[in-house]
Amino acid sequence: MPDDFELQTLALHTGIHRSQFNEHSEALYLTSSFVFDSAAQAAARFSGAEPGNIYSRFTNPTVTAFEERLAALEGAEACVATSSGMSAILACVMGLLSAGDHIIASRSLFGSTVSLFNNILKRFNIETTFVSATDISAWEAAAKPGTKLLFVETPSNPLTEISDISALAAVAKKAGAWLAVDNCFCSPALQRPLELGADLVIHSATKYLEGQGRVLGGAVLGGRDLVMDGIFSFLRTAGPSLSPFNAWVILKGMETLKIRMETHSANAVEIARWLEAQTGVARVYYPGLPSHPQYDLAKRQQKTGGGIVSFELEKGREAAWRVVDSVRLISITANLGDTKSTLTHPATTTHARISQESRDAAGIGEGLLRIAVGLEAVKDIRADLARGLRGE
Ligand SMILES: *Cc1c(COP(=O)(O)O)cnc(C)c1O
Repeated sequence: MPDDFELQTLALHTGIHRSQFNEHSEALYLTSSFVFDSAAQAAARFSGAEPGNIYSRFTNPTVTAFEERLAALEGAEACVATSSGMSAILACVMGLLSAGDHIIASRSLFGSTVSLFNNILKRFNIETTFVSATDISAWEAAAKPGTKLLFVETPSNPLTEISDISALAAVAKKAGAWLAVDNCFCSPALQRPLELGADLVIHSATKYLEGQGRVLGGAVLGGRDLVMDGIFSFLRTAGPSLSPFNAWVILKGMETLKIRMETHSANAVEIARWLEAQTGVARVYYPGLPSHPQYDLAKRQQKTGGGIVSFELEKGREAAWRVVDSVRLISITANLGDTKSTLTHPATTTHARISQESRDAAGIGEGLLRIAVGLEAVKDIRADLARGLRGE
């Protein structure tokens, strides 16, 4: 594909390698292995002398199509697909770090990422220092010999804090470490971290890339050496590879990424503005609102505010649960990035397993609700939330 095509064009046309049948839609190659013409060809494939597929734990044409398409959207040299977003983060760490290495991570990370770093990597003598998502000097202060990786999610979940990617890239460079950005909330349609100096981009393709809540998937993107030598080598050996079926579903989802992200954002900003005007709502967190503490940074760094809005109710858990229990249209589920709106009470679900102390430090109160705004009519979403807010 020519480099000068726009994102929405690349999302439709990159990664298509037609078979002998000349199918128009992307083919789905459901096969675990590939056949060789001869013993010599098998040997050449295994030695790497001849490029080509061997076994779907290593490569598969449908998975490769997904990798090529996502690489084009993120402006990355290389992409490796994984079975989920969490296995993308695991592959990144296992592929690049060793015992004794040190990670600096944002305090406002996805709950399972915190558990992975705190409970699992620690057992392999990889220590993580957690710092504020927004205080660059805290990242600088945490750097030490052995620091190999800076890990951030922006906007963060659920409070939509914005981290300055360019500033963190400079900190990483000075520390001799890599900066990895989990770009799940924005997707490449709204934010391209590699252009801002990040070394690696992580995706949970389960969310906006797939976009319709059907399958799990993930990816790591970055420079060819880092991704192929480090991360792909781990993946092909250890095995958290993306299923070709899931790759195919995600490929089709990515075709509509841009128009979905535009509508998610347009709906979310309207919902956020409306929530700000409701009695009983103490605070609204949305990077597309001027009341957001990093509104200017968000405007520079991402195209629009994205689809996630969080809001704090004055009357705590009781008021929050009343809103949850009053919805009829919005789904009570922890997933996000779906076409359908979803509503979560983070303190008792996604963030219930972390300590009260960590929750307080991350600012996740009992009155906080997170809505992943879907593609329904704004009026219908509003009416569904209004019932619980009014106490009906
Ligand atoms: C969901 C999510 C993940 C994990 O992705 P899975 O596909 O569920 O493994 C990682 N980071 C963020 C920001 C997420 O929202």
